[in-house]
Amino acid sequence: MTSKNATECLQANAEGIARAVQILESGELVAVPTETVYGLAARADSPEAIAKIYAAKGRPEFNPLIVHVSSLEMARELAEFDTRALDLAKRYWPGPLTLVLPLYENAPIARAVTAGLSTIAIRMPAHPVASAIIEQLGMPIAAPSANRSYGLSPTKPEHVYASLVDDCPALVDGGSCEAGLESTIVALRAGGTWRLLRPGPIPKEALSDLLGPEERGSAEQIEAPGQLERHYSPGKPLHLNRTKPKPGDFMIGFGEIEGDVNLSPGGDKAEAAARLYDCLHIAAASDKAGISVAPIQPHGIGKAINDRLKRAAA
Ligand code: AMP
Ligand code: MG
Repeated sequence: MTSKNATECLQANAEGIARAVQILESGELVAVPTETVYGLAARADSPEAIAKIYAAKGRPEFNPLIVHVSSLEMARELAEFDTRALDLAKRYWPGPLTLVLPLYENAPIARAVTAGLSTIAIRMPAHPVASAIIEQLGMPIAAPSANRSYGLSPTKPEHVYASLVDDCPALVDGGSCEAGLESTIVALRAGGTWRLLRPGPIPKEALSDLLGPEERGSAEQIEAPGQLERHYSPGKPLHLNRTKPKPGDFMIGFGEIEGDVNLSPGGDKAEAAARLYDCLHIAAASDKAGISVAPIQPHGIGKAINDRLKRAAA
């Protein structure tokens, strides 16, 4: 059986990239590999194209999108970069760090991208395919994770197909995503303070080294839906910090704690981050009623892994 609207599968070569650019130009969506997860991309200046992202994901319209650029110049046409923003961009771009900055009023961005906010989330992906697509398109793309809202993020093409079934016109096949976890999001306030909105591959300690201590007092306030308690849901009960599976559970091991799959037999947290969603997808597709996960020490990227697991378990 073919699906209602079969996804056009493009290769990660010059021809595939040119076709992806053509589809994006026409206002359609393309799933694009990045170093974090697969993104569902649309040209950022078109209200119609952006509306298709929200519809395909079933995403609430109050949840703003991250805009992806291929150069600092492109980013600086959208938002005000103070010296802190420039320092962070110089150090971490291209890479898995998203900056939330004051949006220029006349920026060529559809209002729905920022959900009407006066700030915008921007990042420069470190993936040659994503970068080439944006550069050839000649404008930023908005690209949230290529999955239905509240579900697991996709780190392989098959995850995208399974989640978006009929709602992804095209996909560029870039294999598995290298980092495997969504970007770190940091908001830089006009007043000089900052706040971590989502932990990710760039650890908070690296940010406070550069920016000083995080602002105090607002930790409970939800600003990014990535902070919502329930997110990244595998669709069945998830039990954390298990050294043995709960009876009847699919076990996701880590290091010496064995399982039906293992995030990293050698106990390497970067490898665990890269494999996290794939293991959760496998566990979700198994015939077991629940999922148990071995403990992962909450240091460095372990913090971001535990953040995702906690929300997946909520
Ligand atoms: P996703 O694209 O699904 O990885 O989610 C993007 C995350 O960035 C969401 O949690 C958004 O709420 C957050 N985000 C995007 N724009 C802004 C903004 N202007 N202010 C705060 N958070 C934002
Ligand atoms: Mg997402």
